This record gives sequence, structure tokens and C-alpha cells, in this order.
Amino acid sequence: MYPSGPGLPARASPEAAQSRGVNEEHGAPVTTPAIALVTGAGRGIGAATARLLAARGWDVAINYARDASAAERVADDVRNAGRRALTVRADVADEAAVRAMFEAVDGGLGRIGALVNNAGIVDLKSRFDEMSTERLRRMFDINVIGSMLCAREAVTRMSTRHGGAGGVIVNLSSVAALLGAPSMYVDYAASKGAIETFTVGLARELATEGVRVNGVRPGIIDTEIHADSGDPKRAFASTGLIPMQRPGTALEVAQAIAWLVSDEAGYVTGSLLSVSGGR
Ligand code: NAP
Repeated sequence: MYPSGPGLPARASPEAAQSRGVNEEHGAPVTTPAIALVTGAGRGIGAATARLLAARGWDVAINYARDASAAERVADDVRNAGRRALTVRADVADEAAVRAMFEAVDGGLGRIGALVNNAGIVDLKSRFDEMSTERLRRMFDINVIGSMLCAREAVTRMSTRHGGAGGVIVNLSSVAALLGAPSMYVDYAASKGAIETFTVGLARELATEGVRVNGVRPGIIDTEIHADSGDPKRAFASTGLIPMQRPGTALEVAQAIAWLVSDEAGYVTGSLLSVSGGR
């Protein structure tokens, strides 16, 4: 039998806690401890992920950039699910803030077993030749460097090379990485392309160190992010572009993330999972 890991109620199996690091029967990594950090978790996909991970037995650190009360509402839901929650303000593009965030999580919940690199931005729909350098830098600072800074902190805590017990990183890409988002936001699409390459490279680098790294590639999902592109109705106005003829929900993306962090995905690393209704 597989010991139950954080994909299942966390403390359901004492053997799981005892066999930290390796599934004795199959040699598959067991992702302990069941403490997750989800960046950008005050709303949208991040909030849905925090709630779902709590329902599946994870304690959750909820990172946010500006909206403290939204993050606190998610934390209340995590606690109501019987798990511990901690809200942490940090701009993921700010190295010092990221370091302080991980230290706050170490002290408040303990060493994480999962990082969901969800925080991300788009910008107003625009032709590429009209995009400012400031916009390009902000896009890459938050979407790419921010995810890398968080991953670097996570690796030093999870990797067996650093004395860690293993863990999982899930990076949020986008179908835009494949489509390029012409005349809309090629900067955003390119940042997600970088996330995909980073995911594959880091997964291979850490493959023997107990750390799995995967990506989720959402299509058009019904969240507030579209308002930031100047088109708040985009999710429902774009159904003609989607083979399933509807936008996805934040929960549907969260379910893919929850699977990737669970021990059911124990042999999955370096993968990009599209959650896009066929797009
Ligand atoms: P969302 O509703 O706009 O939420 C984004 C979250 O990220 C917010 O909670 C925000 O926090 C946080 N955030 C923004 N900048 C941050 C920063 N610098 N540091 C820390 N947190 C920051 O977005 P979403 O639609 O859920 O998207 C989540 C992820 O999925 C993103 O990476 C996005 O690119 C990706 N994705 C989304 C879609 C889609 O259609 N929705 C499609 C493909 C990929 P505050 O509220 O506190 O500012």
C-alpha cells in the first residue's frame, strides 16, 4: 500500500509521517510535510487552490500583494476546513520580501512541502510596438523572476541536497505560452514561455533530490485577471475560441494543481498540464 500523503487527509496515516522522503515499497517520494505556500492566493486560482489544498489536508500559507482582507477570508476558510493558515504579504518580485515571507512561513507553520507559484499579472491589451520598457520589466519581474525567487527559497528547504524532506513545486503557465497572444499581450505570453522552460529545467535538475517540479497551463479561466487586460468580460466573450465552448473555473485549475502536489503524481515531474477546455 502507498502511505497516504498530503493529497489525502494529512494525518490519516502515521506511517506516512514516519516514512518521510521515500515510499518504502515503491521508492516513490512521499511529499511531507503537508504545508503548502500558495502565492497570489487572495483571489482567483490561488484562492481556490488554497481552499482545495486545505480540504485535502494541507496547512496553507496564503501570500498576497495588496488585498489583505481577501487573503484573510481565504485563511478563515482554511481554518474552517480544520487546517492551519497564515497570511503573508510579499511582492514576489522583491527578493528581500520573498526571503522574509519564507522565514515567516518557517516560523509560523513550519518547513513547506509544496510551493504553488501562482502569483502573476497581465497588462492592458496592446500591440507589442506600443509596450513600454517599464511594462516589459514589470511583467518579467513578477511572472518570471518572482516565481524563480520563490522556487529558489523552496529548493533550499525541500531538496535532500540541503537536508530537506523533498517536496513539490507547481508553476502557473498559460496556454498563451503556446499561442503567443498576438496584439494582446505577447509580453505575458513570453513570460509564461519562460516559466515552461524553467519548469522543465528545474525538474530535471532536482529529479534525484526528492523535489518534483511541474506546471499547469490554464486556458481562459473565469477570474478577475481579465479586468487588468481591460476586458473584464473576456472569459465569457471568448467562448468561441474554446473547443468546450465555456471558460474554465478557478476550481478546475486548482484540482489539477492539487493532483500534481499529491503523491498520486509521484512519478510526474517536468510536465506541463493544460487545463484549457481543449484550447
Ligand atoms: P487574479 O485573479 O488576477 O489573481 C492574481 C493574484 O496574484 C492576486 O491575489 C494578487 O494579489 C496576486 N499578485 C499579483 N501580483 C503579485 C505580486 N507581485 N506578488 C504577490 N502576489 C501578487 O489571477 P488568476 O486569474 O487567478 O491567475 C493566477 C495565475 O494563473 C497567474 O499566474 C496567471 O497568469 C495564470 N493564468 C490565469 C488565466 C486566466 O484566464 N485567469 C489563464 C492562464 C494563466 P493581490 O490581490 O493582493 O494584489
